[in-house]
Amino acid sequence: MTEDVCAKLRESLRKNLRDAFDKDLDEMLRLRRRELWILGADNKQQRFTDVCGTIGAQQMAAINSRGYKDTDAGFRADAHNYVPTNGKEVDVFILNTEHFDKPDSFLDPLVVHEQAHYLEHIGEMPNASEADKANAGAVLVSLEKDVRALHTTNWAQHLAVGARRMVATGKTTHKTIREFLEAAVPPYDRNGRISVRE
Ligand SMILES: [Zn+2]
Repeated sequence: MTEDVCAKLRESLRKNLRDAFDKDLDEMLRLRRRELWILGADNKQQRFTDVCGTIGAQQMAAINSRGYKDTDAGFRADAHNYVPTNGKEVDVFILNTEHFDKPDSFLDPLVVHEQAHYLEHIGEMPNASEADKANAGAVLVSLEKDVRALHTTNWAQHLAVGARRMVATGKTTHKTIREFLEAAVPPYDRNGRISVRE
């Protein structure tokens, strides 16, 4: 079971980074000399789990001892600056355990949202067209105030670029950029619909 979820999520990360951002995950990790850790966020038990079985019980105990916060998903480049990793340099992807079995139509927009954070963290500049920039602006104004504080223009432009590419190439079942973006930003994080140009 663990191996299946691990393989599924790793493939989802690989596929979405390629389809949305034209980047090779394994090559990126190799060049960055980072290991990728995948954590499950278990809101019921209020703890993180080791999805791929590569982190180890002792290390997980150290991570969980730092406290837990409910989350849908997250991506953190250079996570060793934030959590104990026993000297390892790692990038971390977090996904709520309740999302493990969700279909691609749900997972892809969520993963692309988080990968936009990842690219932002590593200092990658978005290759945004004027339309992408307008769409990014529409995403930012749709965010609730506390959510807006955690999301930058750089992030929004990466997301807008990713959404456009996913829809234009038919790599997602979402038919429009608006539909994809609204799936990428949950309704409870927004003050309404995202008014993007198509
Ligand atoms: Zn976010």
